[in-house]
Amino acid sequence: MIRAIVGANWGDEGKGKITDMCAEQSDIVVRFQGGANAGHTIINEYGRFALHLLPSGVFHKNITNVIANGVALNIEALKNEMQTLKDAGIEFNLLIGERTQVLLPHHVLMDTYEEERLGDRKFGSTKSGIAPFYADKYSKTGLQVWELYNKERLLDKLEHMYEKINIQFKYLYNKPEIDYKEVYNTLLEYAEFIKDNVADTSKFLRDAIKEGKNILFEGQLGSLKDTDHGIYPYVTSSSTLAGYAAVGAGIPPYAIDNITVITKAYSSAVGEGPFVSEIFGDEADELRKRGGDKGEFGATTGRPRRVGYFDAVATRYGCEIQGATEVCMTCLDVLSYMDKLPICTGYEWNGKVYKEFLTTDKLYEAKPVYTVLPGWKSDIRGIKSYDELPKEAKDYIEFVEKEIGVKISMVSNGPRREEILYR
Ligand code: GDP
Repeated sequence: MIRAIVGANWGDEGKGKITDMCAEQSDIVVRFQGGANAGHTIINEYGRFALHLLPSGVFHKNITNVIANGVALNIEALKNEMQTLKDAGIEFNLLIGERTQVLLPHHVLMDTYEEERLGDRKFGSTKSGIAPFYADKYSKTGLQVWELYNKERLLDKLEHMYEKINIQFKYLYNKPEIDYKEVYNTLLEYAEFIKDNVADTSKFLRDAIKEGKNILFEGQLGSLKDTDHGIYPYVTSSSTLAGYAAVGAGIPPYAIDNITVITKAYSSAVGEGPFVSEIFGDEADELRKRGGDKGEFGATTGRPRRVGYFDAVATRYGCEIQGATEVCMTCLDVLSYMDKLPICTGYEWNGKVYKEFLTTDKLYEAKPVYTVLPGWKSDIRGIKSYDELPKEAKDYIEFVEKEIGVKISMVSNGPRREEILYR
């Protein structure tokens, strides 16, 4: 089976846990977009890990992990992540696409300088260099992995590349210029570090599909952060949709059989942008403190996440543009303390209630319309089957399912791998 696991919302839906769980039955796990700018939290027998670039199959020795061409390859971040796993005694197989774009040192700097320059108009970037990286990639001034192995050509390319970048650094940002020879030396080190992992990953995956292998495509962030379909401009710079798995990894679009979309039982988001069902003050602090496995704080940046009630309008939209064939709802246990459970079922804008996901300007002005369900007020961690859940918890799931229009096939009631209820 070829399966994609992707997010319905703003990211941090708990994809890492579900991917890790499903990885067990996979031969190959693939990252196809994004970079080290978000993280999956995985808790297993080796400990608690925040993965940013490595696919979640790294905890299983017999799985081949692929970083495909669509990824923003931050080799410095990759080195650190690989070291953390090695230190924990974990051995893994990793292939890196030879056409994958390499994130360069100036991307990270530019991201930081640009947010500084924007001041109040900033995007809330994670400052991992992702936006400048994709800008270079699509203006064809970037660097693919194979280019690291032609030294003469590389030096010449960098010299020309940094001429332009340094003008921007000096005159726009008033910052020190970059020495392209230093970048060159760093890149040669990187080239040496990854050389045994570099492969034609698109061919590898196409062959694996023909051989009937089980492949899992692991998405980063969620639908509402997609460049084309999300809350532009508060989006990420790559597509977060399952459809892009085919593009980023170089496989036929029709090869993907299953699109499992992950959504949390409440909402959380990082960065700027509209968030209709957001809550504030003590109510938000309480949810933030209880959320996830260690509170709702970014896996990459440690920033407190914005939180809110479940948004059925955003989630239905998020599932539809992903092409969800099934949905997994995570973090249901987090809601166990609540007396009442508001679910946002409509957006009121300009005197009318909408069920459609509106454009960014309208989302900022929209007011949430809530349907309030009763809470179950008991600890549901440790429950092993869906039928054993309190009636109110089942009602909550079934109400959401009706609103979003896709079957909720799995419910996660705790951060650990085995805390999952199948329906
Ligand atoms: P991802 O980027 O979508 O993988 O999400 P993150 O890993 O950044 O955030 C999800 C957080 O929720 C992590 O801290 C997980 O350990 C945690 N988590 C996942 N599923 C559950 C669950 O069912 N219950 C609880 N309490 N935490 C969960």
